[in-house]
Amino acid sequence: MKTETILSAAEAVQQAILANESELESLDRAIGDGDHFHNMKRGSATVVELKQELAALSPDAALNKIAMKLLSTIGGASGPLIASFFMAMAKAEKEHGTDTLPKMAAAFAAGVEALKQRGKSDVGEKTMLDVLIPVAQKFTELANQDAAPQAIYAALKAEAEKGMLATKDMVATKGRAAFLGERAIGHIDPGAKSCQVIINTICDLAMQNQQ
Ligand code: ADP
Ligand code: MG
Repeated sequence: MKTETILSAAEAVQQAILANESELESLDRAIGDGDHFHNMKRGSATVVELKQELAALSPDAALNKIAMKLLSTIGGASGPLIASFFMAMAKAEKEHGTDTLPKMAAAFAAGVEALKQRGKSDVGEKTMLDVLIPVAQKFTELANQDAAPQAIYAALKAEAEKGMLATKDMVATKGRAAFLGERAIGHIDPGAKSCQVIINTICDLAMQNQQ
């Protein structure tokens, strides 16, 4: 992964978050406190604003800087969770690199594992992990089978969508939505939706870059 790639992904993610404003707003208004869109908007804008500073850094240093900055700018539950993802990605990038798809999948899985530890949560709890865990598993599986990159990205987009939609019928056992009990049923988890949007965007970008 090049620092340049991280920066173009950040810009695309910022646009995608903005394009999904009304859905992200209404989901967190329904089962949270309504701030999730703003947290994600602020987080993605912060990374884009750091562009010049990040451009001078190695990819692992850039990922670490992003983690630190997100920790202080995205409030709520999602700030520390997302920061821990980036910190673990930075560590994997530094220690093993991400120059092949299996290594990239391993770095992504390490990020998801760190988020899981930080959130003390797992799949099935109606959170962003319902998107991230299956996507990390699928990525690892397909990359290690040496599947074609385009097929991998298409499969990851589908997996993210499936995970996001699956949160609709779940009762939340973590985060603010857990206070709602059965009343959370029927609403997609906002964090799962934003992770799906981000994965979709990054896969589209990777697909374009492969062509
Ligand atoms: P807050 O809940 O503090 O208002 P946000 O609205 O930004 O923060 O983020 C809410 C999202 O964070 C939820 O939709 C859920 O996906 C995710 N989340 C909350 N708690 C956890 C947790 N313990 N583990 C994983 N994800 C979580
Ligand atoms: Mg919220």
